[in-house]
Amino acid sequence: MPYTAIVGLQWGDEGKGKVIDYLAEDYDVVVRFQGGANAGHSVYVGDKFFAFHLIPSGMLREDVVGVIGPGVVIDPDAFLKELRELEKMVGSLRGRLFVDPRTHVVMPYHKQEDALFETASDKPIGTTRRGIGPTNRDRYGRLGIRIGDTLRPVYLKEYMRRPYDFNRKIVEAYGGSMPSFEELYGFLLEFGERIAPYVVDTVILLEDMERKGARILLEGAQGTYLDINFGTYPYVTSSHPISGGATIGAGISPWKIDRVVGVFKAYTTRVGEGPFPTEDNGEVGKRLRDIGGEYGATTGRPRRCGWLDIPLVVYASMINGVTDLFITKMDVLDELGIYRAAVEYEIRGKRAGYPPAYSADWYDLKPVYEDFPSGESLIEEVEQRTGVPVRFVSVGKERKAVIERKTGGKYGKA
Ligand code: GDP
Repeated sequence: MPYTAIVGLQWGDEGKGKVIDYLAEDYDVVVRFQGGANAGHSVYVGDKFFAFHLIPSGMLREDVVGVIGPGVVIDPDAFLKELRELEKMVGSLRGRLFVDPRTHVVMPYHKQEDALFETASDKPIGTTRRGIGPTNRDRYGRLGIRIGDTLRPVYLKEYMRRPYDFNRKIVEAYGGSMPSFEELYGFLLEFGERIAPYVVDTVILLEDMERKGARILLEGAQGTYLDINFGTYPYVTSSHPISGGATIGAGISPWKIDRVVGVFKAYTTRVGEGPFPTEDNGEVGKRLRDIGGEYGATTGRPRRCGWLDIPLVVYASMINGVTDLFITKMDVLDELGIYRAAVEYEIRGKRAGYPPAYSADWYDLKPVYEDFPSGESLIEEVEQRTGVPVRFVSVGKERKAVIERKTGGKYGKA
């Protein structure tokens, strides 16, 4: 089967950008299926660096086709800026980048609402304030504006009316001031003209490519514990960054995905609020942040850091049906020189190998730590507990800094 999904097994920032760029060599197409410009995948190739937000990572490889599926939300300004910057590096993306007309538009009022609501709340979620949550709320509320609507000016005003009235009430209730209807109409028309060359029905495109023998990567943004259902609710994102999300976000049958690569870091990080059992607020957390450069690619926010949490990886492997594990940032742990991980939790006096399904229990558990003599023995522990082979070990930012474990060496079983 032609499809491989790549998913994060923690709270995002697992290094998926690098993993996708690395694996893209064997693939023809990379598809984004959820999220929006809140994602930030950093890719380094030689002296080239690019921070992907909306455009599929992997497009630094000049023969890779990129697809943005209907499950994504597109912020017009962020998209056009990223497109300009990437085209400066790799040339025109016309005929190489495709966007589905059913993809939702992040409206300026969605960004206003995100910021107004976070600021007004005494318990903010810690969102990136990019309007992703309000856009997905409107998707499910049948109040969204989609890319295809911006290409049909005759109908656009009619499509905008209900969303406009609803959102004006929200913006004004929170003390903001709503842009005029005409201003937003003009904004959408202009965006429609700019994005038109890239818009096609991506379901048909993927089917055609598949018939021609293309191999296709499905790129998840964020991570499993930010999933709207399976994450640490309510401190989650508004979409499904899991392998199942790829089928509904890109219009692909579940039986066509036969490989799921689960990416996790050799330690754990989290941005924003919410539970984080193995967080270290002391010296170790600070060293991990310094050595690992743990600052957000999108926002520059310092990330919360702590030890590897194996129960998280085990449970996420189940949810996603992971077939291959890919551990990143092993070099950071090597530099720290301590190979510690939580192997289980203690929840109210009982041992558990999985994270809890009850929100409150996340704050009521104690990680049970174990120290390992080497990185290799830590990796073997993960394999034993997940039942999934760790096939790749990333030991640096560079595309080439990956050890395929079957090949032997420090992290290789010959
Ligand atoms: P993503 O959202 O999952 O793509 O993660 P980010 O791109 O936000 O964060 C990963 C960061 O770690 C980027 O700056 C990568 O270049 C970097 N990175 C990825 N893999 C490794 C690795 O094995 N070692 C080191 N030191 N850095 C890495």
